[in-house]
Amino acid sequence: MFQISPIPAFHDNYFWLIESDTETWVVDPGDATPVIKALQDRGKKLSGILITHHHSDHIGGVKELHYPGLQVIGPKKDRFELVNDAVSDGDIRQVCGAQFKVIEVPGHTLNHIAFFSTPSGQAPVLFSGDTLFAAGCGRLFEGTPKQMFHSLNRLLALPDNTQVYCAHEYTEANLRFALSVEPGNQDIVQRVREVSGLRAQGIPSVPTNIKIEKATNPFLRTTSAEITSNIKAKLESTGTPDQTEIFAQLRKMKDIF
Ligand code: ZN
Ligand code: FE
Repeated sequence: MFQISPIPAFHDNYFWLIESDTETWVVDPGDATPVIKALQDRGKKLSGILITHHHSDHIGGVKELHYPGLQVIGPKKDRFELVNDAVSDGDIRQVCGAQFKVIEVPGHTLNHIAFFSTPSGQAPVLFSGDTLFAAGCGRLFEGTPKQMFHSLNRLLALPDNTQVYCAHEYTEANLRFALSVEPGNQDIVQRVREVSGLRAQGIPSVPTNIKIEKATNPFLRTTSAEITSNIKAKLESTGTPDQTEIFAQLRKMKDIF
């Protein structure tokens, strides 16, 4: 059994702390200071670090948190400094007594990975980094729409009750965009209410889960007739648009929303 809690950092990042009785890990520590504080508050010592991709807001704290012997698991293809356990698709690592499986999800960056676990006695867990957000997805800095759409579909295939821990608190802005392309979706309307209630109290809107994302995340809803008809005028093809094209157009619209 392990517990997961957020370490809020910068403007809208979450570093995730995973704690069992014997181990404490952190996911994507972009800054060492809040992590050290969280460890001190708990009287814990860091067992290892998980990294989803090479952006500085996800790795900026690794150097300071690192000490000889500390396991730093990160994407093999990135091979940046301090990753001493480079992993690729399908690899499995033990974290807090549970098996975590690596899923390669190119798009936001070419070498972005996610970590998925089905711990016994707990709901499945996904650390999705900057790939799948609550009601949104990451920008395409390095990959193509086709790659990102494929990556998101792999995550979409995970069990509905998978708890999704993403790396940013973007949910309110994401929902505003979701509503703009699918205003008739009552699940989005209701989620806007729930999330604004949480945020007004300073409570994180994540984790989310796959079921909620299927119902409200426009980037996973490219088969929605309402979305298709709302963006049809912006699509290049005149016939029935394919899913990737709809996804690409949604991502483009969100970039300037
Ligand atoms: Zn990023
Ligand atoms: Fe980020």
